[in-house]
Formats: sequence, structure tokens, C-alpha cells
Amino acid sequence: LSALDIAAVRRDFPILDQKVNGHTLAYLDNAASSQKPVQVIEAVNQFYRHDNANVHRGVHQLSQRATDAYEGARNKVRGFLNAQSDKEIIFVRGATEAINLVAQSFVRPNIEAGDEILISHIEHHANIVPWQMLCEQTGAKLKVIPMTVTGELDLSGLDDLLNSRTKILAIGQVSNALGTINPLKEMIAKARAKSIPVLVDGAQAVPHMKVDVQELDCDFYVFSGHKMFAPTGIGALYGKQALLEAMPPWQGGGDMILSVSFDHTEYNALPYKFEAGTPHIAGAVGLGAAIDYMQDLGIDNIAAHEHALLDIATQRLQQIKGVRIIGTAKQKASVLSFMIEDVHPHDVGTIFDQQGVAIRAGHHCAQPVMQFFGIAATARASFAFYNTEAEIDALVNAIKTTQELFA
Ligand code: PMP
Repeated sequence: LSALDIAAVRRDFPILDQKVNGHTLAYLDNAASSQKPVQVIEAVNQFYRHDNANVHRGVHQLSQRATDAYEGARNKVRGFLNAQSDKEIIFVRGATEAINLVAQSFVRPNIEAGDEILISHIEHHANIVPWQMLCEQTGAKLKVIPMTVTGELDLSGLDDLLNSRTKILAIGQVSNALGTINPLKEMIAKARAKSIPVLVDGAQAVPHMKVDVQELDCDFYVFSGHKMFAPTGIGALYGKQALLEAMPPWQGGGDMILSVSFDHTEYNALPYKFEAGTPHIAGAVGLGAAIDYMQDLGIDNIAAHEHALLDIATQRLQQIKGVRIIGTAKQKASVLSFMIEDVHPHDVGTIFDQQGVAIRAGHHCAQPVMQFFGIAATARASFAFYNTEAEIDALVNAIKTTQELFA
């Protein structure tokens, strides 16, 4: 199937080697959260066993080691995204926190009633609700790029949607509900031509494809570690340095200051200005290890293997009568959303679990997408590089079992 030795790769993920309800686990819920290789688990373990202390403050050995590990991880994220400087990488809890930060610290000071924020119909709630909240706070309007029945964006009206009132275009790179890869280069070029800043929600892109923020020419890029084989509670915000420099801090507290008195506080330099309080140091260390791991495998190899899996799974599901795939975009990554005729997706999820097949059933935090298709939920299988053709067999068998039960 690919250049990767998947059997060897799977040995790095001990959690995959288990039985669930008497069946070999097929973990096909990677879009919700990915599993962690021993290299990541060990990096976190090693940090807590040997180096743990608070960062940036201590002169003692452990604090220096912890600081080096934390800042070393930042440098890995910089390389991973091909940002120009470590100062452009802010550690956050995840994509959600990063989007809220940009909404409140970058857009809010520059927006007034009647201004517009442009998102799309296929966004995750994390790239909808922070903007809605901002609209409520300021009287700005949320505008939405429409979608088509294939689950692609309808860009025919984009030139008008990007106008002199648009304060930001906030757009996902890959849809978590449908797997659609959006044509970002074209969209960003259009926004750029009108000097409209762009935030890219890369939560579903970074596990699957090479990302280069300079080539994309976005102003902000956000992602979560837990979807790319790193711990939960850590993620990153990339922002162009000049923009981050000009932004006020988001949260106040320790670490984000140079000096404090009751009259006046001097804020710290980038990136610390945006990292108030003790950060998730071990999480950052784990994220750095996950980046190393992915780069060792080769992100192109990862993408090729997953693409092959998605193609095979799509063809096999298309052949099953009574199965409807939701989201048939030409460019897709790793997500297969589907419905089984006359069976509620939640029942699908439960019956699959009895077969050891872990998928997600629900609205996938993308309720407007469900509303578009007139459904409440889908069943969603989502792949990572450690998945196999045998697991697609398990998926297909689980569908057949479900159909037999409901026949
Ligand atoms: N955007 C997309 C496209 C996502 O899939 C997710 C997570 N499902 C998020 C944002 C939010 O990520 P997190 O919950 O890790 O902050």
C-alpha cells in the first residue's frame, strides 16, 4: 500500500494492540483524537522523571532543562509549519483557544458594528462560535461562504463576500465532518489582494499533509496537538510577527510581563506576551516528539498511505447498497462520513463498537453541515497512517452486520 512499514509503525502504538468486545480493535476515530506513539509517551515520561520544573524563572539546573525542552519544542513547531521565527509560535491549549485568542486580541480592537467576519458553511464549531461571540460583543456580522452537495465550498460569490467591511477570513483547511480539502491558496490570494487578514484552522490538516505557512501566506494558523499524535491540552498558534507584535495580550498573569507595579505593567516580548501563567510544558515536549516522529516517517509517506486507505474505503462503501457517503469532494483527506439507510448513526456507532470498530457518530461539532444535508448526524470513519486495509475490512463487515441486524 505504501512506503511505510505499517506493521513496524503499529508496534510504536501499544494502544492499538488490544481487543474490544472480543474483537481486534480497529481505531477509526482519528479525526476526534489520534493515538500516541511510545516515542511521545516516553518523551513526556522522561520529562517528568528527569527534567520537570517551571520554565523561564529558575536559575537551577532543572528549570533550565525544562526551559530548554519547552523552547526546543517551540523551535520544532516553527520548523513543522515553516514559520520564519520562534517568536511567531504561541503555545496554547489547542485550536479552540487559538481562534478565541485571535478573535479577541487581533480582530476585536479593530472591528465595529456593521463590519463583517467571513467563515464558511463547513467550519467546526470552534471556528464559528468565537466569531459569533465577537459579533454579539461588537455588532459585527457573520458572513458564510456557502457549500455544495458534494461538500465543497461554492466560491462563486467570494469576490463580493470579501469586501471593504471584511475584517478577517477564518477558514478551515480540511473539514473534520466531511474531509473536504479547501482551495486555500486561491482563497488566500483573493483575500490578500484586498488586504484582508486570513486565519487558517489547520486542526484536521496537520496530521495529514505538509503545511507551509509562508507558502500559504496566511496571517494566522492554528492546530491542536492531540489530533497529531501528541498529548491533549497543547496546540499552537502561528501568527505573522508584525501582527503579533501589534496585538494586545489576551490573558494577563505571570510570564507574560517584564515588570509589574500598581501603576503600570510592561508586557513581555513575543512569544511570551501571549503565554500567561505556567504553560503545559510536558505537553509541548510531547508535541515536539510527535513532530519528530511524523518527520521521521515522512509526511509525504503519511499522506500517500492515508490517501490510498481513503480511496479503498470509499470504493468499498460505494459498492454497498443502502450506504450513502456524505461529502464527495474531489480533494479529500482521511475522513469518510456515511449513513446506513434506516439506521440511526448512533446505533451504527454502538453496533460497530460491539465489533471492535471505533468510529464517531454525531454532528462532529459541525451542525451547520448536518443542517445543510437535512440530517442530524453521520457515522464517520477517519484514518491515520497506522490504519490498515484489514481495518477497512472490519469497517465493511461492521456495516454488513448492522444491515443484517436491521433487515
Ligand atoms: N477545528 C477543527 C477542524 C477540528 O476538527 C477541531 C477538533 N475536532 C477543532 C477545530 C477544535 O480542536 P480542539 O477541540 O482540539 O481545540
